[in-house]
Amino acid sequence: MKEIVCKLLVIGAGPGGYICAIRAGQLGVDTVIVEAVKAGGTCLNIGCIPSKALIHAAEEFEKVSHMAGAKSPLGISVEGPKLDLTKTVAWKDGIVGRLNSGVLGLLRKAKVKIVHGRATFRDGKTVEVETETGTQVIRAETVVIATGSEPVELPSLPFGGPVISSTEALSLKAVPQKLVVVGGGYIGLELGIAFAKMGSAVTVVEATPQLLPQYDAELVKPVVKRLGELGVRVVTGAKARGLSGETLLIETTEGEERLAADKILVTVGRKPRTEGWGLDELDLDRAGKFLRIDERCRTSMRGVHAIGDITGEPMLAHRAMAQGEMVAEIVAGKKRTWDKRCIPAVCFTDPEIVTAGFSPDEARAQGFEIRVGQFPFNANGRAMTTLSEDGFVRVVARADTNLILGIQAVGAGVSELSSTFALAIEMGARLEDVAATIHAHPTRSEGFQEAALKALGHALHI
Ligand code: FAD
Repeated sequence: MKEIVCKLLVIGAGPGGYICAIRAGQLGVDTVIVEAVKAGGTCLNIGCIPSKALIHAAEEFEKVSHMAGAKSPLGISVEGPKLDLTKTVAWKDGIVGRLNSGVLGLLRKAKVKIVHGRATFRDGKTVEVETETGTQVIRAETVVIATGSEPVELPSLPFGGPVISSTEALSLKAVPQKLVVVGGGYIGLELGIAFAKMGSAVTVVEATPQLLPQYDAELVKPVVKRLGELGVRVVTGAKARGLSGETLLIETTEGEERLAADKILVTVGRKPRTEGWGLDELDLDRAGKFLRIDERCRTSMRGVHAIGDITGEPMLAHRAMAQGEMVAEIVAGKKRTWDKRCIPAVCFTDPEIVTAGFSPDEARAQGFEIRVGQFPFNANGRAMTTLSEDGFVRVVARADTNLILGIQAVGAGVSELSSTFALAIEMGARLEDVAATIHAHPTRSEGFQEAALKALGHALHI
């Protein structure tokens, strides 16, 4: 049995783990990273990147299809657009492959030792890895658990046959004629909209009364409108009960219904990957199903940190990366704590939704007196010239000091505003700072400036 002794062992090479290992390597920490499947983790291989590739392809196809038969007000007409999903998936796989090699290259450049195989804990500082060449034992002074999350399976609809998770949805060989999406959160809607644009007849079944229940209704409204335009049927307040022959049985507020479907995409959440690899035996403190961590991402065991999805919400790649970078610096002896004011979140639906900091309701619940400014994109020149006037930017600020507490937006392309919003909150910007910043014209970002002006009582374009 081969044995490696190192200063830092990172388990899992998703965005949390690989960033942690790269930064530790850059700082001269003797680092080993173990990965069971593929470097880049969920995000790069079966999450953020492939889903955004598919969403883009679907958008392009829908744009062209919309122009077919001279329906486009732009005066463009095309004939008979076709989509070959196998080629789309191959293109997506090519991007994933390039990024995957890039991550491996960056790890090597930072002198991180990469071990391929599944790690199993022997004790808090030792793991065993079954590699292609035999069992490898790795002992470390500090361990970082970065094993991420996996899709939740419904007992009534186990994965297999027509029932698929987001992973299989990203590599289908053909566009399903009838697709039912069970779970109207961001993953289900992003993929559901993409398949609707590619030609599937899509039904979304959501248990709560509203799609995207984590957002306020005003933000979700433009997405619901677009779903209607795309012919997506939405059944809220409904639960999937299981397969009945060739159909999916759902229970709605009006009784039972059977839905015909070629594929049933179940996106009802993700759970931390804690089982089956000796983690349970370490008996680390939990926060629900997730590992409990402090502001330095330390678990309840000395020298064992945890980062990313395994530590809970928000389960987002950029949070995992920020935690990974911080932990690497702590291991290298730097003084760091988690004092982020905000983690922006983007929902890549059509239109997109961005949130950073508090919504009006959240700010009020925190006890703040607030002022709110909202600017609609139908008063924005750039939005008009790109045929995408739905949505708005909303700024929430303290009523006494005008300190910005939160920013939300829904609209085409607003994902690119997410970092501007986060920067404003991180830098402690006030409404006056945003109002006084000259925003380039014509851009959608002017909506942010106008929303701040509106909150101050003197918007210029509404
Ligand atoms: P993961 O990325 O899950 O990586 C964990 C790694 O650990 C995996 O590679 C796994 O193989 C490995 N591993 C597990 N157990 C072991 C073991 N015992 N030994 C060795 N290796 C092990 N987030 C965003 O911010 N933006 C998005 O647009 C976005 N879109 C998404 C779309 C989809 C369809 C999905 C499913 C997720 C999306 N996410 C998005 C979420 C994002 O992918 C996760 O938040 C992120 O990947 C979490 O990173 P992580 O490092 O914690 O874990």
